Amino acid sequence: MVSVAAANLSRLKRLAPRLIQLATLVLFMALPLTAVCSSFLTGRTTRPARSDFQHAVDGTGVRAFWPVMEALQRDREPSDDAWGALFATPGYAKLQPAYVKRTLRLAYMPAKSEELRTALHQGDYYSRVLTHLVRVPEERERILHFLSSFNAAKTLGAARQEAAAYLPKGATDARRLPLVAFVIVEPDGHVDDDVVVFDVLYAIDRGADFVDILAHEFHHYYEPSRLQAPPADSADYYIVHTVKQVQMEGTADLIDKKAYPLHADPQRQWYVDQYNAAYADAPNTLRHLDELLSAAASAQERAVAGKQFWGALKFAGHPTGFYMANTILKYLGKPALIAAEPDPFEFFSVYNDAAKRCTTECYVLSDSSMAALAKLESEYIR
Ligand SMILES: [Zn+2]
Repeated sequence: MVSVAAANLSRLKRLAPRLIQLATLVLFMALPLTAVCSSFLTGRTTRPARSDFQHAVDGTGVRAFWPVMEALQRDREPSDDAWGALFATPGYAKLQPAYVKRTLRLAYMPAKSEELRTALHQGDYYSRVLTHLVRVPEERERILHFLSSFNAAKTLGAARQEAAAYLPKGATDARRLPLVAFVIVEPDGHVDDDVVVFDVLYAIDRGADFVDILAHEFHHYYEPSRLQAPPADSADYYIVHTVKQVQMEGTADLIDKKAYPLHADPQRQWYVDQYNAAYADAPNTLRHLDELLSAAASAQERAVAGKQFWGALKFAGHPTGFYMANTILKYLGKPALIAAEPDPFEFFSVYNDAAKRCTTECYVLSDSSMAALAKLESEYIR
């Protein structure tokens, strides 16, 4: 354990200049108005000032949303200018225009009310998206109030601090703040490059938990990575993607999920139930992955099996990764977990060391799977 941690610490030291290089390479930040973030231009990467926090929040997406919604409510197609203004905002620019347009038309056009009624009763994620969007007109005042009274320094400052709890020392000082761009699209948030795209009504709905969820996204943003992912047409793509997702979501879930089992939540009990079930099933999921990795297969077979495994993985690897992260925390401690962050293959290796110390409930991956992961590590870790 000690040697693994020491090896990773030396890797982190090697990574430090790369992080600084990254922070200075990114030359543009979409800002709410036309203001320019001074700390960014000077390349300063220490603690942000109050004005930096204000400049790190963007409400233009929500502002551009209202004319689109109002046109649709009148059964009219929004003008090209209205759509253009929406997708020019930093948050919507990260979304798929075709998906957003189709979903907003369905949610708000009276001519589509029959189709909407059917979709709302499907009981799938898309029906939850539509249920969420249908609430927006009646929640408009609350949304406007949330944005006008948003305390950027307090909220983003707290999220940044929470994210740091599971990051190598100094990681949050190595990059400027990401831009938090509010949108209205689905009850979720995610980070894409240096923009955290977050649904404003979902932020309101989550109440006090919003900071934790934002901190989860900040963790992704600040987490150092040495992974050079293979291209999408590579036979290794889905396996490497799975390994990365499991590591990054499992670690970040320590911030907002905190502990297993997730507590009851009447607003989204379906999610709590399914997440807890997938967590309990994590040893089985790892056994399936073990079988996939240890099978002597051709590149083509590996590609197909990897894609199938990724497709069947619950919640994009969150609960499995959370199980692994908790196992590492319990048997090897936080420094071992943090030291593995830049290298998701190392996360699996450290998990396996922890699982060997654990009694019957932990799944230990086979030597042949670990060898397969080590081979991928040598190819895809810089
Ligand atoms: Zn995440």
